[in-house]
Amino acid sequence: MEISTIVPAYNEEKNIPLIYERLTQTLSQITNDYEIIFVNDCSKDNTLETIKTIAQQDSHIKYISFSRNFGHQIAVSAGLDLCKGNAVVIIDCDLQDPPELILEMYEKYKEGYKVVYAKRLTREGETWFKKITAKMFYRILAAMTSIEIPVDVGDFRLIDNVVVKHLRNMPEKSKYLRGQISWIGYKQTFVEYHRDSRIYGKTNYPLKKMLRLAFDGITAFSDKPLKMASAIGIISAIISLLAIVYALLSHFIFDSAVSGWTSLIISVLFIGGVQLITIGIIGEYIARINNDVRNRPLYIIDEQNIEDEQ
Ligand code: UDP
Ligand code: MG
Repeated sequence: MEISTIVPAYNEEKNIPLIYERLTQTLSQITNDYEIIFVNDCSKDNTLETIKTIAQQDSHIKYISFSRNFGHQIAVSAGLDLCKGNAVVIIDCDLQDPPELILEMYEKYKEGYKVVYAKRLTREGETWFKKITAKMFYRILAAMTSIEIPVDVGDFRLIDNVVVKHLRNMPEKSKYLRGQISWIGYKQTFVEYHRDSRIYGKTNYPLKKMLRLAFDGITAFSDKPLKMASAIGIISAIISLLAIVYALLSHFIFDSAVSGWTSLIISVLFIGGVQLITIGIIGEYIARINNDVRNRPLYIIDEQNIEDEQ
């Protein structure tokens, strides 16, 4: 198999026929030996039925359907586990990532690059809030990690089968695939594109899920928050020490200790805040360990039309 394309889909019934058409158009220009794997993340609409209808007519179409909604990163991981292509493309179902760009990516792949990611020059049809928070997040993450995770890059990319094999051996449960792929290394390059707006439907990445992905990205690739927590602890301990000296002096030497409700309440609240923040940071890491230690399967497949031969 030359190319596999992984398309995670959650409530995308209207987009499926469109992306099918454009992907088929594009991929058949490269080879006839390709597969398109739709991963139905337990959609509430007719996404699965639509995929099945297409799969009956076209043997290039494969599908995996989850028993419940596991989320975008895990849907992509399931596709990665079952794909067979030498080159593997990850693409969103909502046509925000233009399938035609695969031609350009494939050229780079043929030049010998193992990872070709797509860098967003602009983003259409997204709120200024999403654009700003995304931009900030990419830069914060880049500043916090020692590995090089490219900025303004989503999951839309082409990766070599070698990289896929390494990804399958990374059993983390809270996935941040772009980080993992950067961590794996090899010769990487990028192509640039303008990200369109969604054709049908609405985003399935509300603020809560964006924050979750951001936390997963940071905790998976950086210990800086933990170090910051201890730094904040040390700084507040030094400040407290100075305050203690001052309090003792004013009581015993200068005899000027006042009733002092204001200073008392401020310091109690301050220390309380610092403690809660640092406990929260540690909690994020513990949750991550807990998630991995439980060692549950990453996803559960309800139905699929891929023969498991590997
Ligand atoms: N998606 C998924 N499971 C989810 C949420 C999203 O498989 O729980 C898929 C969705 O169908 C799309 C891709 O992940 O193909 C990106 O989602 P979306 O377009 O909602 O995110 P955005 O582009 O707004 O960041
Ligand atoms: Mg989208």
